[in-house]
Amino acid sequence: MAATGACVILPAPMRPLLSLLLLLPGCVNFHSFERQRQGPAVVEAAAPARPQWQTIGTSVEGRPLRTLRLGHGPRRVLWVGGIHGDEREGAVATDGLPHEFLNLPGAADAVTLTILEDVNPDGSAANTRANSNRVDLNRNYPARNFVASASNGQSPLDQPEARALHDLLLAERPHLVIVAHAWRGDHFINFDGPAERHAQLFSQRSGYRVKPSDKIAPTPGSLGSWVGRTLGTPILTLEYERGADPRSVWLDTREAILAVILTE
Ligand SMILES: [Zn+2]
Repeated sequence: MAATGACVILPAPMRPLLSLLLLLPGCVNFHSFERQRQGPAVVEAAAPARPQWQTIGTSVEGRPLRTLRLGHGPRRVLWVGGIHGDEREGAVATDGLPHEFLNLPGAADAVTLTILEDVNPDGSAANTRANSNRVDLNRNYPARNFVASASNGQSPLDQPEARALHDLLLAERPHLVIVAHAWRGDHFINFDGPAERHAQLFSQRSGYRVKPSDKIAPTPGSLGSWVGRTLGTPILTLEYERGADPRSVWLDTREAILAVILTE
């Protein structure tokens, strides 16, 4: 593959990862690698302005809902670091992703990556699945299968955290959404909408099994139902193993996460 030659200009620690990414069919950043190959023998990553966290809303208890926008490419990807407050296994991945993304040559030119740190900071502070109103924020979206209840909310988007993520999604219109969760006794990649190709790619890179949504218990009003089936936007639900070491699951899935972020 012609672009493989670009590896000669990359810092040594990046070569194994880039070699893997370059094997991906349709990898979107070949043109960036080609541009870099024509440059000087040693290419330093440009020093971009330090990205700033933005607050897009507040939780029931007033905690900020924070986003970080990285890169400026035409492909838009949204990473949601957590939605169930007792599933924080993705927190280290959320912390590590900016550095990995920004140090991957060509990535910032190909992709605009928005990171939503945690849509349920009250639940995370209390180590509870739901928010402070005892509503499951993964059941509060205007999907066709929404079911009103005390734990789902009386109407879609009646929780401020769900509204903030809803508005962010409609403003950003990402090409891919990835949401970190955790599952007791297992780990896998789940998808809704036209995301099977990305789920398979994630599986190849991580060893996580692909588990379609219809093989899991019904999830009325879930983010996956609304984004994947109502909006038709590809969405991956990344289920880390509950209680796993967050550092090691990040290392296990880092290449897979970057691969799906970069691949159209
Ligand atoms: Zn969950």
